[in-house]
Amino acid sequence: MKFDILTVFPEYFDVLKQSLIGKAIGDGVFDVQVTNIRDYTLDKHKKTDDTPYGGGAGMLMTPDPIARAIEAVDPYHEAWRVYMSPRGKRLSQQKVESLAKEGRILILCGDYEGVDQRVIDLFIDEELSIGDYVLTGGELPALVTVNAVARYIDGVLGSNASTEEESFSNGLLEYPQYTRPEIYRGVRVPKVLLDGNHKEIEKWRLEKSLEITMKNRPDLFENLDVGELLPKKKRKHRK
Ligand code: SAM
Repeated sequence: MKFDILTVFPEYFDVLKQSLIGKAIGDGVFDVQVTNIRDYTLDKHKKTDDTPYGGGAGMLMTPDPIARAIEAVDPYHEAWRVYMSPRGKRLSQQKVESLAKEGRILILCGDYEGVDQRVIDLFIDEELSIGDYVLTGGELPALVTVNAVARYIDGVLGSNASTEEESFSNGLLEYPQYTRPEIYRGVRVPKVLLDGNHKEIEKWRLEKSLEITMKNRPDLFENLDVGELLPKKKRKHRK
């Protein structure tokens, strides 16, 4: 898997050297190439923005440096091209999983008031938002997207970690987790987790997941068949 990131602030992506992601990139598990859009401007002052037609606050990124950068990085349109934008479809765990199946993803980061619409119309496959709020630039959203997608690339998470039993994997938020010590500041780990009865642990975890989801994200129940989550009873086969 390869990510190409296009930005006017490449330094933001130094953070990709950290942690599991940094290790995976260092080990060649996946690749991230960051391209400075400013390197593709023909303007002698390296300008990449201008005032919007029709008036309005702020500056817009001009189309030509972005277009030339995209054409240099992905000349045959082999990458799935994403523009990070508050106007985009909301990034979800489902979307992350489907992006992880792409061989190559190009992410365009907007800055200032965004980019000229013609860049989106001519070059972009999909606009993606990381949430209903506005940030100063697309760099943090691009980092969020790379991080979330990379967790689904084989070899990124350690062998003990899994994407299968965590928040959103079954449509619910994750149950509470505990580690040693058994009693901390007077608070005990729930007894059921210490007894080694896996059926009971599974039941408790599902109850807690339902409780937390109901409290924090009742909207997640809208598209959920809770019956599907219940442990299946073994059926007796008639002879
Ligand atoms: N004028 C734009 C609007 O109202 O939709 C907002 C521009 S914002 C200040 C600058 C850039 O930050 C955007 O072009 C986009 O790339 C990025 N951005 C800001 N918030 C975002 C979000 N929630 N999700 C994804 N990208 C975002």
